Amino acid sequence: MQIMKCALTIAGSDPTGGAGLQADLQVFSAYGVHGAGVVTALTVQDSSGVRAVMPVFPSVALDQLRVLLADITPAAIKIGMLASDDVARSVQLALSGFATQIPTVIDPVLAASDGTPLLERRAWPVLRELMRGARLVTPNLHEAELLTEIEIGRKRDCEAAAEVFLEKFGCEAVLIKGGHRDGPPDDLLAIAQESANPMTWLKGERIDAGAVHGTGCALASAITAGLALGQGLEEAVNHARCFVATRLRGASGLGSGAAFLAPAREHS
Ligand code: PLP
Repeated sequence: MQIMKCALTIAGSDPTGGAGLQADLQVFSAYGVHGAGVVTALTVQDSSGVRAVMPVFPSVALDQLRVLLADITPAAIKIGMLASDDVARSVQLALSGFATQIPTVIDPVLAASDGTPLLERRAWPVLRELMRGARLVTPNLHEAELLTEIEIGRKRDCEAAAEVFLEKFGCEAVLIKGGHRDGPPDDLLAIAQESANPMTWLKGERIDAGAVHGTGCALASAITAGLALGQGLEEAVNHARCFVATRLRGASGLGSGAAFLAPAREHS
């Protein structure tokens, strides 16, 4: 009998199912991993954008995690939207003692594509603290710029930002996603304590799918599922990039706004 693996997502609810907790659980399922989910916030949104954000009571975030983790030990954890400073602190408190033992992937969600903030500005320091010891942090270019305060124009700037994530914020690895800008959508993977070549540029292919909702959530949760299955970091990242690219090619619209990733029929 195969041992069932569990991955936990700590994320905001997106009723469209395109992003956030609902999307993460679909990805876990596609990987054949049981998905557990702790809700940090409710959102009101459709495919055109976010209308409202309601963080849960911080004590509710704390209790959900405490009770869950006292019973079930996930093989990997993904942290997405944290919404407020108080909720972020609750997550930090609940995970203290766990985060170093369980590989954790942090998608540092700051705002939705339509600009709606998904994390209070004053919570950024807690988000940075949470990154210490994280197995991987997956900012897009904009998030990397905001969190490191480095303006990224050339590849060299991106590498300098990656160094800040590793050296100042203390994460074990960072994947800076290049898909949000003109030019080649290459991602930069930087891994701490790798003497040979700690910075690897991963070639990306621009897939002309228009605006697609929740690609960042899908990538981070696919990496998390891979880690839960025992994949090494680079293997999990490469596999997840292919997984998302495949689903991006099949993306289509359900509503009047952004398209959604194609559901996976099997672990591809
Ligand atoms: N809603 C939730 C709960 C999210 O976590 C995210 C992104 O992480 C979004 C909305 C925004 O998705 P998009 O960047 O596709 O607008």
